[in-house]
Amino acid sequence: MTKLASRVQALTPSSTLAITAKAKELKAQGYDVIGLGAGEPDFNTPQHIIDAAVKSMNEGQTKYTPSAGLPQLKAEIAKKLNRDQGLDYKPSEIIVGSGAKHVLYTLFQAILDEGDEVIIPTPYWVSYPEQVKLALGNPIFVTASEENSFKITAQQLEESITSKTKAIIINSPSNPTGMLYTKEELQELGEVCLKHDILIISDEIYEKLVYQGAKHVSIAELSPELKSQTMVINGVSKSHSMTGWRIGYAAGNEAIVKAMTNLASHSTSNPTTTAQYGAIAAYAGTQEPVEEMRKAFEQRLNTIYDQLTAIPGVTCLKPQGAFYLFPNVKQAAMAANFATVDEFAAALLEEALVAVVPGSGFGAPDNMRLSYATSLDQLEKAVGRISTFVSEKM
Ligand code: PLP
Repeated sequence: MTKLASRVQALTPSSTLAITAKAKELKAQGYDVIGLGAGEPDFNTPQHIIDAAVKSMNEGQTKYTPSAGLPQLKAEIAKKLNRDQGLDYKPSEIIVGSGAKHVLYTLFQAILDEGDEVIIPTPYWVSYPEQVKLALGNPIFVTASEENSFKITAQQLEESITSKTKAIIINSPSNPTGMLYTKEELQELGEVCLKHDILIISDEIYEKLVYQGAKHVSIAELSPELKSQTMVINGVSKSHSMTGWRIGYAAGNEAIVKAMTNLASHSTSNPTTTAQYGAIAAYAGTQEPVEEMRKAFEQRLNTIYDQLTAIPGVTCLKPQGAFYLFPNVKQAAMAANFATVDEFAAALLEEALVAVVPGSGFGAPDNMRLSYATSLDQLEKAVGRISTFVSEKM
């Protein structure tokens, strides 16, 4: 039997995908499971995007493209970054990849040497630490405490920097917490990064999904120096409900983009051609569907937030972005006689037929993540089930 590589043996499987698979399995067995584990919008991709992709195929656009993406798509991404963030990038400063996840993977492969450190505010998106480790880097976790609205401070950042620190990931709005850094907070973090020459990886995949009148700010917008210090990561998955199309991008330092393009030329060759044509339509066409989806998410959030926080032992910071609630359920789990939130979440699925993702996978074992990328009906039913489950166990 072939021995697996040690770096792969050390990988933790994605807890979000695992819970989704378990929920699907129970559903297939005939159970009425409500899945709140998914990390994808429940809307279909807007029709004009689908039409543009089909048209491109019918016109014979079914061959390889340049490894960093079609020039037309890079041009549309450059326009989008100018329109939304006021940032100007040359085509050579943009790389399109097979989803933001793969772009991040390629980025870590391009910048990390063995033992290099990447600062990851915790709670974090599950793939960051694993991707850093796959590039033989060391994830350095810095607690973004609930008391500080799940954000790290400039002082915490300063204290976690060593001679090996290479980069920091800023994910705003955040998965799983839904928190958004303000301009001032980003400015302070940015100053520390500039002082120590630390690359800022700004994952802005939830940029378009912000609520309560909040505004997303990219750290790259704040000064020319910060723009040079930042790799902006974004894509169409969450904004245009295009998760399965697998199109994401990075914009930033030309030498890093060139190295990533080299790597892509030996791994993916290029992101799927048809999907790139869809993404051109997503950025060039009307942005109305994006706003409609955002409004629907906000309505759902406002409806279930109150119901969720009315459950005894459940507290939750109200998210300003993304489509997740990240309540602290430790008290509820203990009152219901579970030793850990992991066990509580497992029982919720088995007994109450509600799939949530335990916070341990995000580095926050007292919390759990509920995605509200599902209909209001289902959401209200799910929160009702959680409430009944807790009260019956107490
Ligand atoms: N970044 C964050 C924080 C995410 O939550 C996700 C998806 O769940 C991604 C990046 C990757 O998005 P995609 O690879 O679909 O573009």
